[in-house]
Amino acid sequence: MPVPCDEMANQPPPFGDVDLFRSDRPLQDAVVANGAGGEAEALSAFGRHWGGAAMFELANLADLHPPRLHGDAVRFHPAYHHFMAESMMAGLHCSTWNTDGAVAAAPAEVARAARFYMVAQVENGHMCPITMTRASVAALSSQPDLQARLMPKIVSRAYDAELRPWPDKSAMTLGMGMTEKQGGTDVRTNTSQATRDGEVYRITGHKWFMSAPMSDAFLVLAQAPDGLTCFFMPRFRPDGSLNGLHFAKLKDKLGNRSNASSEVEFHDAFAIRIGDEGRGIRTIIQMVQLTRLDCAISSAGIMRAALSRALHHCRHRTVFQKKLVDQPMMRAVLADLALESEAAVAVVMRLCRSFDLAQRDPLEAARARILTPVIKYWVCKTAPAFVYEAMECLGGNGYVEDHGLARLYREAPVNAIWEGSGNVMALDLLRSMRNVDEAQAVLNDLRSATRDLPEAVAALTQIERSLLSPGVEAHAREVAGMLAMVAAAAALNVTSPDVAAAFGRSRLRGGMRHYGAVSDNVSRLLERAAPD
Ligand SMILES: Cc1cc2nc3c(=O)[nH]c(=O)nc-3n(C[C@H](O)[C@H](O)[C@H](O)COP(=O)(O)OP(=O)(O)OC[C@H]3O[C@@H](n4cnc5c(N)ncnc54)[C@H](O)[C@@H]3O)c2cc1C
Repeated sequence: MPVPCDEMANQPPPFGDVDLFRSDRPLQDAVVANGAGGEAEALSAFGRHWGGAAMFELANLADLHPPRLHGDAVRFHPAYHHFMAESMMAGLHCSTWNTDGAVAAAPAEVARAARFYMVAQVENGHMCPITMTRASVAALSSQPDLQARLMPKIVSRAYDAELRPWPDKSAMTLGMGMTEKQGGTDVRTNTSQATRDGEVYRITGHKWFMSAPMSDAFLVLAQAPDGLTCFFMPRFRPDGSLNGLHFAKLKDKLGNRSNASSEVEFHDAFAIRIGDEGRGIRTIIQMVQLTRLDCAISSAGIMRAALSRALHHCRHRTVFQKKLVDQPMMRAVLADLALESEAAVAVVMRLCRSFDLAQRDPLEAARARILTPVIKYWVCKTAPAFVYEAMECLGGNGYVEDHGLARLYREAPVNAIWEGSGNVMALDLLRSMRNVDEAQAVLNDLRSATRDLPEAVAALTQIERSLLSPGVEAHAREVAGMLAMVAAAAALNVTSPDVAAAFGRSRLRGGMRHYGAVSDNVSRLLERAAPD
């Protein structure tokens, strides 16, 4: 009998109603290993809520109805506002700070990262203003008086979408404007001019990319009389009139469609200096370090989302009288994806632990400085190819919009491009390695954490040799990728030594590879990725 089109034959049920925490053993283990085991119950409740079918449906709506510019305001679909309200209620924009702007006690970073990683499996666009708001506090610490005034609004969890002056709102969000037409990486070429007006400044110029334009304020870079400087630019002037920000258009983007990214002109825009004149890069880089961390967490979440959907499909779909998940070659592909995904979550959570401990432990502070660009580089660059491979596990269904992979595929590249693109991250590694004592301490730490793992000693020796070679800049990507993988092996060695050994054997020898080359630990990897 022919099967009519409207009858479901051998088609997996829709993906949804999962506990994004309890269904993810690698996440649970990473949370425990990095000091946040006490949050497990709360994380499971969070995972059940965000993994509900209704949340996935809302995410589709937010993506299908991108924001539009209407004069000075940006209009969003209600689904977008729903996600903003949810994430702010959960404190994703502020939970790593105390009300006075000091760093919150451990394991605040790891606990937030676990939530952020789960949210990234559902809706990515709204995470941009969430991440910028939380990161802005680091830069604001260079101007304590202003920070003290803003903190009560930043730590508020009551989302307020109204276009009103920030002091009148229940909560505020912040964006960031660095990139201009002539340069995003080399921000020293910024042409926006800031002129002093008593205690404050007037800025005239433009930004070529400024995301989340409906934010209540932005941290922007502009040229002041004494050089490139960081400024706080609110949407409204102190007298309550609209500030001189004129949004020319919203970018038409490949993915990340629920989030608005604008081109904007500044005409005599009111601004307050943050930190000293001429120290703009030093000031804003504190914020950028945190947005880079969030890019890595979010890309690990995107990978996990793609893996979950691939596993779901292969468990339900029968091909040649067997479930796909029981076909030997498909098992090898899925296990290899599971290995990569587990490594990504292990290494980002371990990195978050370094942020949690950095204030009181110099080695952890050095790890955070040196490994953030490296891990951002590797995880964000791994995600697009990973999502593509997961898409292929679904066959034709992977390529159409109904099954989630198409949206993840469009989303995946952006984390590598913004907040420091691949080459820039690799160059950052070389810069951070110039502090020889710190670099040696971090490499020694990784050496002792991986000494029993296959290929790790050779990989570290190769990294050290490359770093000392005169032409290192030309192959800095290779060094960054290998260092990130050694850090991942070290993190896995704590959560699951047999998985770490499989990772070492299959990844640390270097060279090009495709997914599907893992032959050991296949059942164990699949069981960890999706416990029954
Ligand atoms: C969706 C989206 C939203 C964004 N939102 C914001 C925002 O809110 N605020 C903001 O300020 N910016 C934002 N950006 C801009 C983003 O941060 C920049 O695009 C990025 O930093 C790269 O800058 P660029 O586009 O000018 O490229 P370029 O700086 O011209 O770089 C191009 C390429 O050259 C590489 N490169 C640069 N220098 C070197 C070197 N020395 N050696 C080798 N290779 C090098 C880079 O890695 C990159 O691959 C956004 C971008 C996107 C796509």
